[in-house]
Formats: sequence, structure tokens, C-alpha cells
Amino acid sequence: MSSVTLQAVRKTWGAFEALKSLDLHIPDGEFLVLLGPSGCGKSTTMRIVAGLEEVSSGTLLFDREDVTRVHPRRRNVAMVFQNYALYPHMTVAENIGYPLKVTGVDKAKAREKMLDAARKVDLTDYLSRLPRDLSGGQRQRVALARALVRDPRVFLLDEPLSNLDAKLRVAMRAEIKHLQRSIGVTMIYVTHDQIEAMTLADRIVLMNKGQIQQIGTPDEIYDDPANLFVAGFIGSPPMNVVTGEVADGVFRAPGVTVPGAPGRGPVTLGFRAEDVTLSPTGAFQGTVFEVEPTGESTFLVVEVGGGRAMLRADKKHRPALGSPVAFDVPASQCLFFNPGDGLRLR
Ligand code: ATP
Repeated sequence: MSSVTLQAVRKTWGAFEALKSLDLHIPDGEFLVLLGPSGCGKSTTMRIVAGLEEVSSGTLLFDREDVTRVHPRRRNVAMVFQNYALYPHMTVAENIGYPLKVTGVDKAKAREKMLDAARKVDLTDYLSRLPRDLSGGQRQRVALARALVRDPRVFLLDEPLSNLDAKLRVAMRAEIKHLQRSIGVTMIYVTHDQIEAMTLADRIVLMNKGQIQQIGTPDEIYDDPANLFVAGFIGSPPMNVVTGEVADGVFRAPGVTVPGAPGRGPVTLGFRAEDVTLSPTGAFQGTVFEVEPTGESTFLVVEVGGGRAMLRADKKHRPALGSPVAFDVPASQCLFFNPGDGLRLR
């Protein structure tokens, strides 16, 4: 396996800048997830690593080797797509072994490698089946094994779970994570699903409009968002935001007074639904707009500070619509942002 480094990588199509000078280092054996909304440049980044797309400028390294201009076939990366692209007329064994067949590896050696890859993804009992006689999850494992069989330096997965139903997705998520850990491959995984990113990644790269917004562990990105884009993208529900004014260290918005605030003038306060404690004398005073039970808890949609916020409350809590609601957020869980550029103040 290899580490992967992108240095000042840019990609333009005509006047359109799909990637704006990307810097990223992925250590050997890391599970890195590229996350972001549609069109942010995730797939372009991955295709550049694979060699399917050329950089407009910048450098790509595998370990210390400059592979920027190396032909895709010589990079030894394995890519798994959404639709797996299995050969329908070939058995599982033939599908997995196919990459070795085309590169002309010795037959006995090829069979050994095929069996080894099949074992890693737990497919040994299905070797003579055709893809159409497999479940979605098993097909996915064939695709993974076919990628593994070449001992790639880097493993690339582009939304590999998006065609599966919800239940299978959750199961396959655990399988992919387990596989990655057990064989220690460097993996770059593209998704627009933040839950998938949070559950799988060693580190997440959150992108928007061709730029990295933040790189960090799932906890860092969740607890310490660098800006309002990150705060609004990560978390379900996303972070609540209230925009008000700070004067003499006190944040004020309609029904909200929070001391210890940084900055002055317009400031945006952020807090998460689960950090709220209902309290009649709380610093936040609002009214109940809607009540959303989820089974494990109840979300209150509250009108507060001139906007709406989601609060997580006890599952048995079912206040009347329009009734007053007051709550507190611990000072450590109140984040402050500059509403102009969105950057975190504290
Ligand atoms: P999605 O989740 O929708 O796949 P993405 O984050 O993977 O989105 P990319 O596929 O990397 O996004 O595309 C980034 C931007 O570059 C998009 O605006 C896209 O329209 C543009 N783009 C991609 N390929 C080309 C191309 N061949 N020519 C021109 N523009 C392109």
C-alpha cells in the first residue's frame, strides 16, 4: 500500500474551476472519505488519483513517487463503482480473477490469488455462481475482491453503496470498514452521505465548490466545525444557527441572551439539538412550532431568535404546539461564527 499526496492540484474545464488548489496527504493504510454536496469535486479528485482525469496543474505522489503523468494502468489503483460492473456471463471466480487474466499472471499463481481475495471477502462458497444468482451485498463483495486481487497500492470507492437498499447499506458499511481494517489498505471513499462518512472514515475531507472546507476525524468535524458550511452539512439534524448581535461580550437575538460571546456586531451562534437542556429560566426563550417523535427521543422544532431550531427532548415529552419553551446550552457547546464569511470565531 501507498500513501497518497496531492499538492496544489487544480482542475479546470475551460473557465470553470472544478478543483481550486487542493492539498491533501493520505497516510498509508488510512480510510479517507471525500464528502460533500453534488458537484463539489469529490469524483474529480478521485478520478485524478486513478489517472482517469489529468490535473490542470499540481502534483500527485504515491509515497514519494511522482505519478502525476503516469498512465492509469501503471498506477496500480483499484476502483469500485456504484454498479460494480461485474461480467454477467462469468462466475464469481472468473470475475475475481479477471484482472490477473488480462495481465497474464501465471495460471496457478492467479488461482491462488483469486482464492485468497475470495477468502478475504468471505465468498469461497460462491465461486461457481453467476452474478445474477447473488444478493446485492454479495455482488458488492465480488467487486471488492476483484479490486483486491491485484494488490493495488490504493483502493478507490465511488459511492459504492448508493444502489443498495437502506438495510443492506448499513450491513455493507460495516463489511467495508471491517475489510479495510483487517487488510490495512489505503482507501479513498467518495460519498455525499454524511452518516456513511461519519461511520466509515478515519478522516473526512469535506468539500464544497472545489475547495476543502475541513479535514479531520469524524469527531473533530462534528464537534469543531471550521465554518458554517461544515456546521450545516454535518449532523442530523444539522447544527442550529441563530444570528444576532454581540455587544460587550453578550450575544443577543430575539428571546436569546448568551454571555461570554466573542466578536462584536453581527454574530451567528451555533448549537446542537442534543446539547440543549429544557429549563423554564433558560437563556433561550421560544415557542413550540412542531413536535417530531422518532421513537428514541422527541425533536421539538422551536421558533427562537428569529428563526427555527431543533431540540432533542425526552421521548415522552410532547408539549402543545404554540406553547412557550425555554432552554439552556452549556457555554462549551455554544459555537460562534462570523455571518459574513462563515468562519468560526470560537
Ligand atoms: P456528484 O456527487 O454529483 O458526483 P461530485 O462532487 O463528485 O458530484 P464532480 O463529478 O467531481 O462532483 O464534478 C465537479 C464539477 O466539475 C461539477 O460541477 C461537474 O459538472 C464538473 N465536471 C465534471 N466533469 C466535467 C467535464 N468533463 N467537463 C466539464 N465539467 C465537468
